[in-house]
Amino acid sequence: MSRERVLITGAAGFLGSHLCDRFIREGYHVIGMDNLITGDLRNIEHLFSLEQFEFYNHDVSKFVHVPGELKYILHFASPASPIDYLKIPIQTLKVGSLGTHNLLGLARSKKARILVASTSEVYGDPTVHPQNEDYWGNVNPIGPRGVYDEAKRFQEAITMAYHTYHGLKTRIVRIFNTYGPRMRLNDGRVLPAFIGQALRGEDITVFGDGSQTRSFCYVDDLVDGIYRLLLSDYAYPVNVGNPDEITISDFAEEIIKLTGTSQKVVYKPLPVDDPKQRQPDIARAREILGWSPKVSRAEGLAITYDYFKSLPHDRLYDEEYHKDFSKFSK
Ligand code: UDP
Repeated sequence: MSRERVLITGAAGFLGSHLCDRFIREGYHVIGMDNLITGDLRNIEHLFSLEQFEFYNHDVSKFVHVPGELKYILHFASPASPIDYLKIPIQTLKVGSLGTHNLLGLARSKKARILVASTSEVYGDPTVHPQNEDYWGNVNPIGPRGVYDEAKRFQEAITMAYHTYHGLKTRIVRIFNTYGPRMRLNDGRVLPAFIGQALRGEDITVFGDGSQTRSFCYVDDLVDGIYRLLLSDYAYPVNVGNPDEITISDFAEEIIKLTGTSQKVVYKPLPVDDPKQRQPDIARAREILGWSPKVSRAEGLAITYDYFKSLPHDRLYDEEYHKDFSKFSK
């Protein structure tokens, strides 16, 4: 029996690797693509022995060629943390713009359906709360996050243009903060930062006064929302995230309790353009996809902590660890 084939870009990343797992489980042949700038092959090494998985080491900002048929394309290649945008701003812009253009072209030539990973960052530092899909956002194009936010906004624009002009079957998911196993320990994101600090016996670094909020979605819930959106016939953007909102200082307390660390919270300057509050309005996902998150933060954090604890101890130290936050702070 020949399996339907799906291309997943960013396959070695946090979300991409979980998507590979899900599509393999659903019976597809998965072609993973990644240039490994921020991706890590350890996230997908368990798939290499499977005949229904293959991997291309390729940068999608350059022309993308995949032999054979494709049923679906999921574009998840992109740096996705503020520290990465500072380190590799041009690549961040290119993968969201040129990379998306290449994959839309590939989707056209293969007559494939394409889903692109957008982000709550299209809302910037939002003046509307919670954020629904009709809000146009409050983005600083030339701030440190601008390279990501504007690339993703362009991505949505070109994806809609291919939909309306070429009749391409397109899907746009706006992803809110997501966490789970395989997050990169050193990408500066708040959850791996806090858990890494607890495991290394370092102080927990809260930026600003910690009153800013985020709403954290467990990765399996997110992947399920994405899967449902891909199979739906809805071409407009859909928020997928968990509306359970928490301040960063309360989140730090949760991590301290979970890990039992005796370290204390230390306060660092707030990064430039750090959104003050963020919470998805998921009415559209509920209505159109029949989706809502199932995993509570307590359950999800416990699984994620077990994952980080299970890593070989030197993984806590083996990658460049960013202690110097000063260069992107006010
Ligand atoms: N944050 C923090 N300490 C850290 C890393 C992040 O207090 O060591 C804060 C950060 O300033 C932001 C929130 O946690 O307000 C979430 O940051 P993250 O980089 O995970 O995601 P984003 O800002 O893109 O939502």
